[in-house]
Amino acid sequence: MPTTTKPPQLTGRRPNIVCRRPDDTQHLPEPGTIIETASGEAMVYVGDCWPDPHLDLSRLAARLRPARKVILIGDIWAVGRPLKYALCEEWLRQKREARLAARPPQLPKAPAPRCGQARQDGKPCGLPAGWGTDGAEGPCKHHGGLSAARRLGEHALTVSRLAQKARTTQLTPRERLEGAIALRAVIVELRKPRRRR
Ligand SMILES: [Zn+2]
Repeated sequence: MPTTTKPPQLTGRRPNIVCRRPDDTQHLPEPGTIIETASGEAMVYVGDCWPDPHLDLSRLAARLRPARKVILIGDIWAVGRPLKYALCEEWLRQKREARLAARPPQLPKAPAPRCGQARQDGKPCGLPAGWGTDGAEGPCKHHGGLSAARRLGEHALTVSRLAQKARTTQLTPRERLEGAIALRAVIVELRKPRRRR
């Protein structure tokens, strides 16, 4: 869709995530500690318990999203891997949400136009506008809607009738206008591309 704008913080690739065992188990920061480096890496100490009840996954995901690389340090299989998948899921969810929020509000669809002419029982005709004619507006073919051929015929008759009259009498301004409109309509109809049947 050309009108949607992407929120700036969610463009680009998500961070690359790796899991790593801690090097020094004796001086390990608290689980949940995040250490960011100048090169765009974020080291996250994840401990060895999953799921962590103190961990706010969506906040953590939002915080880590701008990082270039995320290193999950702790128990790889018990915490690292599940957290990696949970973060990826959460980023996808946030991206979907941002895309939905950026979408322009949808206007309710206008109801399709109807013929609307009075039926024999007095109720308005519910057929689609222009039904049975080759247009998509105006009355249906049961209520005066004309096919292009019929319209052309009606306009041509008007032109011919007025041309006939103009030979013997001066046309009134109203008739001249009517003739000009009919002639124009004939030209418009004739210029329309014909639909194959
Ligand atoms: Zn109708």
